[in-house]
Amino acid sequence: MARLFSRVTILGIGLIGSSLARAIRLHGLADEIVVYDRDAEHRAQALSLGLADRVEEVAGAAVEGSDLVIFAVPIGANEEVAAKVGGHLAAGAIVTDVGSVKLAVIRDIGPHLRQGVHFVPAHPIAGTENSGPAAGFAELFSGRWSIITPPPGTDEAAVEKIAALWRAIGSAVEVMEPGHHDRVLAITSHLPHLIAYTIVGTATDLESTLQQEVIKFSASGFRDFTRIAASDPVMWRDVFLNNREAVLDVLQRFSEDLTALQRAIRWGEGDQLFDLFTRTRAIRRSIIDARQA
Ligand code: NAP
Repeated sequence: MARLFSRVTILGIGLIGSSLARAIRLHGLADEIVVYDRDAEHRAQALSLGLADRVEEVAGAAVEGSDLVIFAVPIGANEEVAAKVGGHLAAGAIVTDVGSVKLAVIRDIGPHLRQGVHFVPAHPIAGTENSGPAAGFAELFSGRWSIITPPPGTDEAAVEKIAALWRAIGSAVEVMEPGHHDRVLAITSHLPHLIAYTIVGTATDLESTLQQEVIKFSASGFRDFTRIAASDPVMWRDVFLNNREAVLDVLQRFSEDLTALQRAIRWGEGDQLFDLFTRTRAIRRSIIDARQA
């Protein structure tokens, strides 16, 4: 694969940042990778794992002379980091990110970028419940979607370069309006996480004998929710605080549907349950057919 960038800076070497570093290296997409992380141990790990050619403790110094800068910190940290790097970005540099919410990212990073710097927000629909530089792997994005959400007027060549980056590391690319992205993800990702956090939270509030049985017999369904509910608390706190309107909207609809199901169970309306479960089974089949299972 041909090199796309000369110097890439990754801001935050956690699960997503370190996976990107590995994938960029594996495919030879940059001459040099510079990493900024606020944690000395993680900076040392970035060097020992071969994720970075150079690490920086100061964010501004890390972005100087880079033609691609990737924000890979939690949504709530973007503004603070953008304020630190804004004045140090090279003219013509492309800035991108990996955040799970897009309107908030544009709101928080955009104002800190000077004219001549191209901002192309992106979101890989790939991840695990693990965090930190050791948790990443180069194949994380392979066969997954990456959604690019350029604000109106974004330089087309910069958008194409970010699309080329994601394609080079194995992702399929879709370009989407940022607000639309946030509504789609509210239903496909944010609501399922909220439900998982709720179920696991309810189980932990049970009296202790029942709690032990929840662990023992978890394979009957609960186990699948615990994987999702083990996701990073900082990341998910920030997702809900920054996609509030879209999440509250789908949550309202979900609550209404749940009430309807409650009613069907109470009144023994088996046909209604059967019809819904048949429709949802078909959705699972189409996800398998689309190779996203
Ligand atoms: P992670 O493994 O926890 O890594 C987060 C990184 O951000 C760490 O390097 C951390 O530094 C740094 N950081 C945290 N708070 C900071 C602050 N206030 N200032 C500066 N740096 C800070 O998280 P991740 O899963 O890679 O998530 C990063 C981004 O990817 C988030 O925006 C998330 O929405 C997005 N995303 C995640 C997933 C997923 O499944 N995990 C999927 C798609 C997109 P330390 O070294 O100090 O910890």
